[in-house]
Formats: sequence, structure tokens, C-alpha cells
Amino acid sequence: MKQSPDKVVYGSRTEVTGGGFYFACHPGVPCFTRCCKNPDMYLYPYDIIRLKSRLAMDSETFLDTHTYTAVRDNPWFPHVMLKMSQKQDRPCSFLTGQGCTVYADRPFSCRAYPLEPALSRDMDGRRPDRYFVVRHPYCKGHEQDPYQSVEQWIADQELGPFIEHNRRWAAIDALLRANPWGAKGLENPAVKMVFMAAFNPDRFREFVFSSSFLKRFDIPASRKAAVEARDTDLMGLGFDWIEFLLTGKGPLAEAKTG
Ligand code: SF4
Ligand code: SF4
Repeated sequence: MKQSPDKVVYGSRTEVTGGGFYFACHPGVPCFTRCCKNPDMYLYPYDIIRLKSRLAMDSETFLDTHTYTAVRDNPWFPHVMLKMSQKQDRPCSFLTGQGCTVYADRPFSCRAYPLEPALSRDMDGRRPDRYFVVRHPYCKGHEQDPYQSVEQWIADQELGPFIEHNRRWAAIDALLRANPWGAKGLENPAVKMVFMAAFNPDRFREFVFSSSFLKRFDIPASRKAAVEARDTDLMGLGFDWIEFLLTGKGPLAEAKTG
């Protein structure tokens, strides 16, 4: 049965510990596209890959055109944020009268809403993910059928690959919150290298194939070919390299010399 508005506690964030939640979003809801106006939108590494591919853009051009960086809750690493247009109400640049023009490749946060996953932040991923439902006063989707489980929502919104890649990023993000830079803080040149590996895949690919990177690390030929061909494999290598830089450990091993 549809949830009546008086049962919806707006402004709340509730963990889904069993059962599910009422929600639907479609052009028939009275608030359609309201949430695409001036959202405070975080982008994650896999979002960049999906969006820059969708727009047939180089990752650096995408970053310059559609994002800005902001230091927020983590003083030791900037977040990448989606830039809004300068039009009245500051709508998302991808919004038109018909809706989202990048819908099939929309970012994780747009796709997951109202579900807010708290992904396991340990490197071996043994701790379970947790899921919360957030409610904003303007969003009428909570008053709609159907009632669905977290698993159904993940399947419907094709969140699987986003969760898989974001879980790895969440573990790296946890390392980045512990000031891995020493006394130099954000002025440490390694910050730029980590940022490139995470958020600027086309520059990272150039770096991998034009520097001594492939000589320094023990990378099988099949992985080199995959990294050259696919952005997601490149992103995986980037995550491994970041883990190596920050901890000296992880899946990436230095090549034996001599
Ligand atoms: S990417 Fe699409 S769904 Fe997300 S805020 Fe922009 S227009 Fe809305
Ligand atoms: S405010 Fe809620 S129901 Fe309305 S368009 Fe956005 S997500 Fe959908």
C-alpha cells in the first residue's frame, strides 16, 4: 500500500535493516526534476568514466567543463563536485525539459537516491555494507508505490557496478582521511598524482604508458592490454597504485631487478 504523506518523516535518514521502502520517481511525480536543481553533487571515479564516455570527452576536458573541486569533510583530499549551470535555479547542465540527457550514465548519487549506501571501508571488504533511505521535504517519490527491497532498487537502477567500484574507492578514501601526506599536507606533490589516478583516467593512461611505471611494477602483459583498452581496468590499476603509494602494500608489486 502506498505510504501516506503523514507517515513520511522528511529530513530523516533511516537505515533499512529489513523489508524495504516505498519509492518511485518518474515524469508523473509533481516534483519531477526538482532534485536536479542546484544539487550538491559528489562525483566518484567511476562516475567520471561513465560521464566522459557518454559525452565523448577526454577526462581532463570533462573535469574542466563539468566539475570543480572542494575540500569538505576530509581536509586531506579534495572532492570532485558536479558543476551546475548558471541559469536561474542553477539546474544541472544535463537537465532539459524532457529530463536528464545523460540518464543511462547518470552519476551514482542521482541513480541511488533515495538510497544512501554506507559501503564497507576496509581494504578486504569484510565488513557488510549498510543502506539508509534519506528523505528531502521536496521529494514526493516517498509517497509512491511500489514498496521494494534494497536489492530490487539496486537491480532496477543498475547500481551494481557503481557499488563495486565505489566500495574500493571508499577504502582508499578512508586512507586519504588519515593525512597520508605528512607535514606538507595538501601541498605534497603526491596529492596531484593520486588525484590523477583516481579522477583523470586519460592523463593517468598517458602517465602509465609514457613513464617508467610499467618497468617499475610487475604487471602481466594481459593486464597491460586490458588497462590500455578499458577505462575500468585502468581505474583498477589506479586504485592499486594509490594503495601502494599510501600503504606500501596491496595487489601491485614492484618488479624484481637484477
Ligand atoms: S545528472 Fe541527470 S539526474 Fe543527475 S542531477 Fe543532472 S540532470 Fe539530474
Ligand atoms: S524530487 Fe524525488 S521524486 Fe522528485 S524527481 Fe527528484 S528523486 Fe524523483
